Amino acid sequence: MDAARESRVVEIYEDLHRHPEVSFAETRTAGIAARALRDLGFTVEEGIAGTGVVGVLTCGSGPTVWLRADMDALPVQEETGLPYSSTVAGVSHACGHDVHVACLIGAAEELAEADDWRGTVVAVFQPAEELAKGARAMIDDGIVARLPRPDVVLGQHVAPLPAGTMGLTPGPMWAATDSMRVTIFGRGGHGSRPETTVDPVVIAAATILRLQTIVARETSASQVAVVTVGAVNAGTKHNIIPETATLLVNARTYDPAVRDRVLASITRIVNAEAEAAGAPRLPELILEESSPTLVTDVDACERARPALEAVVGEGRVMDPGPLPSSEDVQVLATAAGAPIVFWLLGGADPALFAGAQGMAGIASVVGSLPSNHSPSYHPVERPTLANGVAALVGTARAWLVS
Ligand code: ZN
Ligand code: ZN
Repeated sequence: MDAARESRVVEIYEDLHRHPEVSFAETRTAGIAARALRDLGFTVEEGIAGTGVVGVLTCGSGPTVWLRADMDALPVQEETGLPYSSTVAGVSHACGHDVHVACLIGAAEELAEADDWRGTVVAVFQPAEELAKGARAMIDDGIVARLPRPDVVLGQHVAPLPAGTMGLTPGPMWAATDSMRVTIFGRGGHGSRPETTVDPVVIAAATILRLQTIVARETSASQVAVVTVGAVNAGTKHNIIPETATLLVNARTYDPAVRDRVLASITRIVNAEAEAAGAPRLPELILEESSPTLVTDVDACERARPALEAVVGEGRVMDPGPLPSSEDVQVLATAAGAPIVFWLLGGADPALFAGAQGMAGIASVVGSLPSNHSPSYHPVERPTLANGVAALVGTARAWLVS
């Protein structure tokens, strides 16, 4: 990639980084993406699911490639100390989605200016990945019927792997995530008269402990599941037994059968603990956020791999194996009926990895670095952004007719 294009992408990135927008409020970001696509000759549709943007560029007949970037930032106060830090209090691009947007704009530019490919490129700028809702919302807004059907969906996520490397895991790559709000109903009263109440705090405590047995006692050692109670809320005062208690529960799984069983177990345990305590009614379970396992297509990954190796060098595309992170990009690919290739874009300062041996050595350094969502997380701009652009362009060209 030429230095002028890299500088433009860095400039776009720093601007996005300074002006982060949370899920479904990515108005400014969407405007920047839409304007860039329109200037490049894409046919652009805006306002999909509120802030989503798609752009279509056809150059003769050939395969169709969807390139996807998510746009939303997080409610995290930035603590990176970067000169281009967030100007919005309490909001920052702690997950690096600004990298994805800047790289997709750069890739759209490079493909639009080239005349040596045939086919159709669709740039998809998605809102609200962090809520695991944006992809579903774009599908519900009807984009599959309106857009050319993809032969492949391509996307990337910046990660604290060394800049100048990529991660590619063919098959199950990232976990399904399911987030539930559980409201336990008791009967409140005076703290000195528990016999006149049904104490939801005690039900919550028993429920939290019993939920741990889903992984420890119900899941085979050869299967993977995580169940976390991330929040417990009940009560206001020492001597009042409250009416209700609320748990926020998150489950991660890879295998759909394990997922079904874990979700059924959560429901069973939550209900049974309430029943055991004589609760006046069964708890309410609301599935607030959910996205399926991200399963990259094995054949499509092999088709894309040489393009990624061409960017970072042979032996520098590694397989970190399945990770418990989650992504809703799979929803787009499934709805469009296309295979997906999704890779990790190394963004951590390579100097931090001096002396690290193999994947195990790299993994131990990664474990010591701020991860995505940390107030201190930030990728290095160079060569991360140029690599992200080149990876999108290169993998797209692996499908487009040359
Ligand atoms: Zn994230
Ligand atoms: Zn993310």
